[in-house]
Amino acid sequence: MPKQNLITKYPIEWRKGKLGIKIFCSIPKIATGILISAGDNLFLVDPGDGILRDINKELTSGQMLSVSNIFVTHGHHDHVGGIWSLLTYWRVVHKLTPVNIYYPEGCVEIESIHRAFLSVYSKSISYKIHLKKISNNRELSAKNVKVKPFPVLHKEYVELHSKQKQVPALGYKFIYDGSSICYGGDTARCEPLVQMAKNSDLAILEAGLEEGEPDDGMHMSVEEAIQIGKTAKDFFLVHVPE
Ligand SMILES: [Zn+2]
Repeated sequence: MPKQNLITKYPIEWRKGKLGIKIFCSIPKIATGILISAGDNLFLVDPGDGILRDINKELTSGQMLSVSNIFVTHGHHDHVGGIWSLLTYWRVVHKLTPVNIYYPEGCVEIESIHRAFLSVYSKSISYKIHLKKISNNRELSAKNVKVKPFPVLHKEYVELHSKQKQVPALGYKFIYDGSSICYGGDTARCEPLVQMAKNSDLAILEAGLEEGEPDDGMHMSVEEAIQIGKTAKDFFLVHVPE
């Protein structure tokens, strides 16, 4: 296996034809930030803290205004922490085109951020925000990109250091112009991810389980992630504890 697949050094960039991805970072408990380009269309995936800074370095101001879709796998802060900045930035620079935010049903974080944003700025928002709650995992289409959401296994503590519960969590497979990228978000090993990653041009797999720690049902070990990664044509491990 090429050694680079094991080393997570950010940013990670990958492209096949008209479908490309740049992972600015994916550090557990800190931040994730992913930009997908499909032709001229720009999507953000799991915009954690720092995403505005990162796309500001990467894109022209016109491109920053044209971002049309945000895909959120789950509501943990390291995956949504940059949304307030994005929404506010677009208000300040007078974005005119709408933005869709896709998220799993029950993800209260997205709805709360959205509600708070509207309550603070309701009279001065230049663009439309469409919340796109995903409840049935049916394939959807955004700017001619096919997007297949799939359920994954991820948990959080309900009480300090004790009980855990499943959180609303999805992975997404993006298909455009004959190329495909499968991103599992945060997840323990689960069958939908195994199926979706298989034969993808690129699989992005989290390996967030701390080495030597017992399986917590929240994350995959490096070995589990690699095993799934090998069924795709190419893969990267992300969210490896640093
Ligand atoms: Zn998480």
